[in-house]
Amino acid sequence: MIGLKFLEVDGVNVPYYVENRKIRNPRVEVTDRITVILPKSRFDGVKNISEDVIVAKFSKWMLKQYLELKDSLLKMPEQGIEIFGSNWEWFKGNKFSINSEKKTLHLDPKDKTQVKLFKKELKRKLLIKINGFCKEYATKYDFKYGTISIRNAKSRWGSCTPENNLNFSLRLFVLNDKLIRSVVYHELIHTIHKNHKKHFHSWLKREVPINLNKELHDGWIYAEVLFRKLSL
Ligand SMILES: [Zn+2]
Repeated sequence: MIGLKFLEVDGVNVPYYVENRKIRNPRVEVTDRITVILPKSRFDGVKNISEDVIVAKFSKWMLKQYLELKDSLLKMPEQGIEIFGSNWEWFKGNKFSINSEKKTLHLDPKDKTQVKLFKKELKRKLLIKINGFCKEYATKYDFKYGTISIRNAKSRWGSCTPENNLNFSLRLFVLNDKLIRSVVYHELIHTIHKNHKKHFHSWLKREVPINLNKELHDGWIYAEVLFRKLSL
């Protein structure tokens, strides 16, 4: 059953959805909304944990996430969107166009052909940028990597396969160069260290001296909202 519910935390009504999935452990997911995910009760070997228990356990965290979501929704102007760290004017029209100099975008999210063209263009621009950063870091640190691809990944900014092929999320286009670089460099370190242990962090510090997790988290929430708004 899927439907919107409300949980009162510190006098705020936090809206959330409930979903049943074939998973072992219940969890709470935040995209452009909050979803409490419960294991399907008939799934073998899983205790039927009640929604109330989970919601109570995560209530403070859900409140915090909700306030952040609301914040990023409010910050999003009707006519403007962030592309690669600068503000673009967005118009709905019956013809798609993107102008990097004027920073204007004509896109009707209801028109599937226009959305397809927009995604293709974003992918192209992102690939050029990421390729450049990869080459730069590879020259400096002698990283060896395979292919680079841009995907519509909905769960992470980037990943590195065991064969050292690099995958990046199309969502990176909402970030500025500093943040995109940090994601690219992170994945390049994985070509030599697959985990996030001590060696990984000493490598990371060379190019990313300060913690960017908050900025990356805000960017993710912004991307979730924007992707929904533009039907990407
Ligand atoms: Zn990693």
